[in-house]
Amino acid sequence: MNDAVTFDNVRYCYDNVCALDDVRLSVPAHALTALVGPNGGGKSTLIRLMAGLLTPDAGVVSGCRSVGYVSQHIGFDNSFPLTVRELVLMGTLDPKLRAYYRYTAEQKGAADEAICRVGLTHVAGRGIEQLSGGQRGRALIARALASKADILALDEPDASLDIDAARELYALLLTLKTDKTIVIASHHVGAVLDIADYAAYVKGTVSCFLSPDRLKTKLKGGMVL
Ligand code: ADP
Repeated sequence: MNDAVTFDNVRYCYDNVCALDDVRLSVPAHALTALVGPNGGGKSTLIRLMAGLLTPDAGVVSGCRSVGYVSQHIGFDNSFPLTVRELVLMGTLDPKLRAYYRYTAEQKGAADEAICRVGLTHVAGRGIEQLSGGQRGRALIARALASKADILALDEPDASLDIDAARELYALLLTLKTDKTIVIASHHVGAVLDIADYAAYVKGTVSCFLSPDRLKTKLKGGMVL
């Protein structure tokens, strides 16, 4: 089994808080890894380090840096007049974009393929403000897929979903792991451990990295979330 990303002795501190320290973790490629742990345990920080959005204060994050980051916080106004296709096309943009850029046929094809993979072709021309929470989450995953990222790093994509929408999301993730490495942080511990291949418990560090079943047993045995 290859590793997609490796954390070697990583520390990250915000101004007054040391969120993570002594993180040693290898994330297996082409598998689904669940990050669980208490609120404030450092799951989001770990995901942002993986995506290269944060730089460690100590240690090294190495491996694939082609990461599609899907945050629970959309990062823009939902009422912004943008269609699903336009949102997903943004995933194909080069950061060194020049003015008056026109999308190429290849970029449009990549966006349409990503929209199809997440099952949103029927709403591709619809404004994002008309989507349900579950559809919006899948549109954001499509944007990450359109970027051709090898790793999808999802920070609580199920936070505001009802149980049916969350189940649809998990089913989608299972189809994507055939060719992507998936890392998901979630508070829905039972549900994500059911679909995960590997599980990490994050509380100030990665305090254990186990099979999901073994972590479930430990949690039942009194490990505090
Ligand atoms: P989790 O995702 O497990 O809830 P986080 O990674 O969000 O945990 O937070 C880890 C710790 O870092 C917490 O103590 C949190 O308060 C702190 N923290 C997170 N983001 C910031 C920030 N932008 N500024 C200061 N402290 C932060």
